[in-house]
Amino acid sequence: MARALVDIRILQREYLLAISRALTAELELPDLLRIILKASVEFVSGRAGMIALAEPGSETLRVAAIYGIPPHLVDYFAPLVQGLPYHEGTEDEANRELMRRLKQVADKADLGLTQVLRLPLVSRGEVIGLIYVFQSGSYYFVEDAQSLLRSFAEQAAIAVRNAQLYQQINKEKQRLDAILEQSADGVMILDPDLRVKVFNKALSHMTGWTAEEAIGRHHNEVIDWQALKTDSDLDDALDDGWPLPGAAHIYVEGDIRRPHNERHVEADGAVISLGITYAPLVDENGRMADIIANVRDLTRYREEESLQKTFISVVSHELKTPVSIIKGYAGTLRRQDANWSREIMDESLSVIEEEADQLTDLIDNLLETSRVQAGTFSLEISEEVVLPRLAASVARKFRTQTDKHTIELNFPPDYPSVMGDERRLKQVLNNLVSNAIKYTPDGGEIRMSGAVHSRYVTVSVSDAGIGIPEHEKPRIFQQFSRLDNALSRKTEGTGLGLFLSKAIVEAHNGRIWFNTNDDGPGTTFTFSIPRG
Ligand code: ATP
Ligand code: MG
Repeated sequence: MARALVDIRILQREYLLAISRALTAELELPDLLRIILKASVEFVSGRAGMIALAEPGSETLRVAAIYGIPPHLVDYFAPLVQGLPYHEGTEDEANRELMRRLKQVADKADLGLTQVLRLPLVSRGEVIGLIYVFQSGSYYFVEDAQSLLRSFAEQAAIAVRNAQLYQQINKEKQRLDAILEQSADGVMILDPDLRVKVFNKALSHMTGWTAEEAIGRHHNEVIDWQALKTDSDLDDALDDGWPLPGAAHIYVEGDIRRPHNERHVEADGAVISLGITYAPLVDENGRMADIIANVRDLTRYREEESLQKTFISVVSHELKTPVSIIKGYAGTLRRQDANWSREIMDESLSVIEEEADQLTDLIDNLLETSRVQAGTFSLEISEEVVLPRLAASVARKFRTQTDKHTIELNFPPDYPSVMGDERRLKQVLNNLVSNAIKYTPDGGEIRMSGAVHSRYVTVSVSDAGIGIPEHEKPRIFQQFSRLDNALSRKTEGTGLGLFLSKAIVEAHNGRIWFNTNDDGPGTTFTFSIPRG
């Protein structure tokens, strides 16, 4: 008998050791509670058990683990958890009350539970939860069950507290990760060797590097400056001893190239402008632990800046030419000593008139462009526009300006009129025909033709000119874009014609596009306008 008791004690000790090892290893709270509860119940040969934990910062307890109790019966056990707080020294009284409540619970839950033991989980003097162990039938708990469990509960409380802290830190980390990941700014964290540790979504979007590709790489592989706008970059700053104690952030701005990316092949190699602020995260010993980099995409800002530069150079060039011609002719005509013949006067005045018209067109185009940009561009739709008639009048006008080109018209007789802004549609035709002439320098036939479809009509302008290379296609309708060929440099133009034509056609709910001619050199521009 005595020997058996010793054996049991040894077994219990070993069991306790094994359990406490398991407890310290487990950081997931639900798993930990399961281990504690199972051990508690088995330890005193109980029938069932549960653990209730205090909600952080409140007295309220919540059942956090059950053992031997079917989940659908858990609610019946609420009276054992609520309204009976644990106080050191009043256990006997509380136990009597517990037993009374257990009887009521047992009636409803019908599990034959007859005995209950309750032990506090105390961490740093605070009750963070309660362990309940139940016994059924006529079994009684072993005599020293309470004290056996108590020492176990002390260890368990420490493990629970650790797991709760771990969970809290984990949650906080997840929250921070989510903030970083969702931030609209690009964020990157580098380790002291400048390897990328964190690379958020906005940054992937900006640079074309996925987080998987970027993480683990050296900063300079990902941010491979092609051109710098600031005097120095991160490497220079580090060479100069950055970060000094109390160091300020450093700011680096420049251009990088997007890497090859299967999903965005069209953006491959595109140049993007970035502004990066690097801030050191220093550890308690003053050593740099990490570098956090905030990245802004300045590409649009740069594009606008360069557009503005183009605007100024194009406009000043295009304004200067007619103005100096007008000034030249006017000055000549004014000369007192010259006695100009009627013909010379006429010819000079008509040049002045033409150049003034050119200026008016240019100014109109600029105004329209700024309206398109400001979103205040609107059509004056009223008339029933007869496109064949508009085309004929445009053809007439251009025929007087060129004898190298012929302009043919080909519209079917049933071509319907459309609702539209006549002045603006004429502007589109004017630009298409003027382009056809300008970019067919050796002369040739220009064809304006119409086609009727069930829901829309089209107008096409074909030339046999120099054509548009395939790779320039995406650029052609952008403002101020003029193809870089000898002819563009020689001919007048601001590169606004097609930009405005597109805006006008699209405001009519139509489309504009172009094709390279199949049957010879040159290009065909076509636009569609919906019928009625
Ligand atoms: P603007 O129309 O403002 O006076 P532009 O004619 O140069 O100037 P767009 O009409 O917008 O400008 O045309 C843009 C560019 O597209 C032209 O500079 C030219 O390089 C090219 N382009 C347009 N039409 C043709 C064409 N029919 N054939 C070849 N290239 C063309
Ligand atoms: Mg043009």
